[in-house]
Amino acid sequence: MRLVWHRGDLRLHDHPALLKALEEGGVVGLVVLDPNNLNTTPRRRAWFLANVQALREAYQKRGGSLWVLQGYPWEKVPEAAKALKAQAVYALKAYTPYGRHRDERVREALPVPLHLLPAPHLIPPDLPRAYRVYTPFRRNFQGVAPPLPAPEVLPKAPEEGEIPREASDVPLPKPGEEAALAGLEAFLETKLAHYAEARDRLDGEGGSRLSPYFTLGVLSPRLAAWEALKQGGEGARKWVDELLWRDFSYHLLYHFPRMRERALDPRWEALPWNGDEEVFRAWWEGRTGVPLVDAAMRELRTTGFLSNRARMCVAQFAVKYLLLPWRKAEAAFKGLLLDGDTPQNLQGWQWAGGLGVDAAPYFRVFNLVAQGERHDPGRAWLRRFAPEYASYEPKDPVVDLEAAKRRYLALAQGLLRR
Ligand code: FAD
Repeated sequence: MRLVWHRGDLRLHDHPALLKALEEGGVVGLVVLDPNNLNTTPRRRAWFLANVQALREAYQKRGGSLWVLQGYPWEKVPEAAKALKAQAVYALKAYTPYGRHRDERVREALPVPLHLLPAPHLIPPDLPRAYRVYTPFRRNFQGVAPPLPAPEVLPKAPEEGEIPREASDVPLPKPGEEAALAGLEAFLETKLAHYAEARDRLDGEGGSRLSPYFTLGVLSPRLAAWEALKQGGEGARKWVDELLWRDFSYHLLYHFPRMRERALDPRWEALPWNGDEEVFRAWWEGRTGVPLVDAAMRELRTTGFLSNRARMCVAQFAVKYLLLPWRKAEAAFKGLLLDGDTPQNLQGWQWAGGLGVDAAPYFRVFNLVAQGERHDPGRAWLRRFAPEYASYEPKDPVVDLEAAKRRYLALAQGLLRR
């Protein structure tokens, strides 16, 4: 018997560890409900648990079984291995600082081998050379290897463990890989061809909206990229580029784990951060008087999703206009996202905030009126989420936008001259 331990890979398709374990003999799937991961917001917990339930049903449908145990992995994985008399544990390699620490502890606690197989990224995050800039990182892309099929049948085994239910404060997408694959198919059929032009829409309708599935590994990025490139065209190339940005995020955090606490370029830590709780709450609750920011923060609060363009705008507003402590804003923002993902959120914030990721120049400061008019020209998105505004012009804003921009630029130039 082999244990297949699922972590950020709640799926059966394109799963090298599951297929390898099956080659060796009988398998049982395992998910550990780790308090370190479950200590998050109700919506994110609800989405995770719903996908664990869907994975259990996928196992059952093929005749197999998924164990679900609550506790620390370094206690529960050995416990399951012992109870099942497993000869080995198989999993996909984790690249985050916590994932690597957890796996080392589990390896030490296990009396049988832990085999970690490379997860299907498009560029392995653990390239030996560390890149801070996307374009040279991307040159490591050598095309997409074919994805692996899901097993049709799984060996019979006893099942163990209850999956708790949690109510979400936002509507959840349909959980599970069948729903993810159907979403991928619909996106490829109807939106991929126009993706390059439509991806910047503030309402997010130009993108795939598949990020909540990618974040939990319910959908394999390799399979998604493979299918997109099969279709071809400019839209496919651009979309695969975004999946490569995802890998870049993992690569950055793999090589620079300190970016959880500090700006990748630490000079930016010396900005005079504004600890005013009232200003933070105005941003957080979407009452800044800046229409684009307010619509975005309210959409995020009520749906758990936000387009990439809107994410860039609100993060940049928080860092460059309001000088809010970036780490606190980044964590609060992640708590609202269904797709909240440590590497991608850190990369997104440090890129948008000009904190050292990639070659994003510090002096790029969005004009939030022009951004709204360009990316929501009919104002349908603004009307939906912040209907009190008739246009993208600010109304009694928490800061004077022009003065705040000049102040930031002067501070930034001062820091860089030091
Ligand atoms: P699509 O446009 O369809 O792109 C396909 C996939 O590529 C996405 O699902 C995502 O997995 C990946 N991707 C797209 N854009 C990026 C990007 N800029 N960086 C890294 N990966 C990308 N994405 C998350 O999944 N979780 C996060 O916590 C997260 N936080 C972010 C914070 C900020 C400040 C910014 C600027 C971006 C953040 N992103 C995050 C990236 C991106 O905004 C979302 O992945 C995207 O908006 C999701 O919509 P979609 O699925 O329609 O994307």
